[in-house]
Amino acid sequence: MFMVKTAGCDPGFAPRNIHVSYSPDLIREEDHRAPDEFYSTVSLPYFGTQKPTTVKYCITCHIWRTPRMSHCHHCHSCVYIHDHHCVFLNNCVGFRNYRYFLWFLLMVVLASAMLSILGWVHVYHYRMVADPAVSSFLASISKNPVAFLLALYGLCAFVYPAMLLVFHIYLSANNLTTREYLNSVYTTRKLPEDERYVNIYDTRGILRNLWNAWWAMPQGVPTRNIRGVYEKGDLRNEPLRSLEVD
Ligand SMILES: [Zn+2]
Ligand SMILES: [Zn+2]
Repeated sequence: MFMVKTAGCDPGFAPRNIHVSYSPDLIREEDHRAPDEFYSTVSLPYFGTQKPTTVKYCITCHIWRTPRMSHCHHCHSCVYIHDHHCVFLNNCVGFRNYRYFLWFLLMVVLASAMLSILGWVHVYHYRMVADPAVSSFLASISKNPVAFLLALYGLCAFVYPAMLLVFHIYLSANNLTTREYLNSVYTTRKLPEDERYVNIYDTRGILRNLWNAWWAMPQGVPTRNIRGVYEKGDLRNEPLRSLEVD
């Protein structure tokens, strides 16, 4: 259920500005270039010692991105609080489905752990009951090949989601997205201290961050029905060509 919700719901796509002539027959040469002011980033007002938040113009969607929003080149759209584009689920993970994604990871980890544990219990059952027909581990495998294969399968299916789950527990405890985490790692390595990434979205409480991410964060309303009927020519669903950047 959580997988279907993560893969099938609107991750928080921002509505595009479709009042731009993008049809090939309507497009004019000067439309290829965005006005100069669109290339600059704008710093929002801030208080005290906080770091300023900068917002950028998206030259594909023709909108100003809100803080924490970024453009996904797979989905051809800007996504609010964009975490990453998940290739396995073929959907972005962002503002509206991050909670489902966390629960999905947790359920996958629990299910694969349970599968593996039950498989091993079945394989080692001969030791507990002193079965006279099975004397060794290999004999038990040949008697219960399916249980052995399921135990191995559960183990393989456990490792990667478990690593991902631990990583996302860390991120959600700090109210970071994957993009912001990578940004902080990159800037910590490459830039002097005053230019490094500062997480201004951390509520300074691990439990409060976890509570928000796993349960309480409002999810807003969808701006696009991604399961709706696709009508050719509807600019809300077409891959748009971005304006040229010099
Ligand atoms: Zn965009
Ligand atoms: Zn995407």
